[in-house]
Amino acid sequence: MFSKIKGQDKAIDILQRALKQSKVANSYLFYGPEGVGKFTTALYLGMAMNCHSTMDKRPCGICPSCKKFLSLSHPDLIYIFPFPKESNKPDISIEGEIKVEKILNEYKAYIDNKISSPWKEYFFTKNIGIRIASIRMLEHRIQLSPNEGNYKICIIEHADTMTIQAANAFLKTLEEPPEDTIIILTTSKPNSLLPTIISRCQQLQFYPIPKSKIEEELLGYETLEIFEAKMLARISNGNMEKALRLMEGGKIEVREQTLQFLNYVINKNNLKFIELSNQFRTSKNLKKLQEMISQLIIWLSDIAYYKHQQSEITNLDKTEILEVLYKRNPNVEDYAPELMNFMEEMLQRLNGHVNPQLVIIEIYNRFTDIFCA
Ligand SMILES: [Zn+2]
Repeated sequence: MFSKIKGQDKAIDILQRALKQSKVANSYLFYGPEGVGKFTTALYLGMAMNCHSTMDKRPCGICPSCKKFLSLSHPDLIYIFPFPKESNKPDISIEGEIKVEKILNEYKAYIDNKISSPWKEYFFTKNIGIRIASIRMLEHRIQLSPNEGNYKICIIEHADTMTIQAANAFLKTLEEPPEDTIIILTTSKPNSLLPTIISRCQQLQFYPIPKSKIEEELLGYETLEIFEAKMLARISNGNMEKALRLMEGGKIEVREQTLQFLNYVINKNNLKFIELSNQFRTSKNLKKLQEMISQLIIWLSDIAYYKHQQSEITNLDKTEILEVLYKRNPNVEDYAPELMNFMEEMLQRLNGHVNPQLVIIEIYNRFTDIFCA
């Protein structure tokens, strides 16, 4: 099953070797960007340690133990993640029971989401963190013998969100974890962890997933066109979660609008453009605009590839538009780098409090300056 994790050959190799030689460490730190498989790898490691199949098949994914891990319901899996706080009382009992009903619903929804579509981001209604009650629960549970497996597996997701008290308490647990316990921390911000926590774990780095691997994965999912897979692989910047999320949500619609935008630029149809831009008067469609700008950045790189590196082109099905844009202004080397920086800057600006419509208007003006001069 480890082969399902794309682009993390180094980490997987180290873990598989440790499994074969029975040299799996007591505590690991998996660090690297979001959406590249840290949690899944941690889960598979836990599965492999408890799997009923022969060593070369572990984790098999089909034995009763593996199935329970995959549904996050194995009694020897201790899964800790940041969630909102409702009161000053401990929010989770040492047995792992959530005491506040309001939180319980969100807590369950987070887990359900993790099981059904692990790549989908789940947004809690309030600020989240890992607090001391969760660590007390961990301390309590790792002192008990495993229920039905050989090992207790503890996954602490987004470990960087531990409060100071939680981190200090956790440090003691890390000093001497029981032999039959494996603790795996995951984080995209290792610098926010206490150095003393980092140094007590075996560290494994995870990397952005190569574009080609994301493309491959996407093409296996549904009837995506090659250009779509290419486009998503590029926009997602090595983040598989993001690529899958985009695949689900509205990217085709955004692509249509991006094409419209380019057509309005080519024909300098200001009226139509203003009509299009009106949907960005408020921040309701902010995500859509961000997506559109990301796609325009890819269009720019396609224009740059048009002359000499056609194999790199993403929008393969729209080369007629590329051709027009290229011919309008063939001095790509002169304008492309600056224009791309400008677009990145616009994306940044959208994170602040700007009027999105003004941003798209500014972009339109730049484009018409370059392509309609
Ligand atoms: Zn198994």
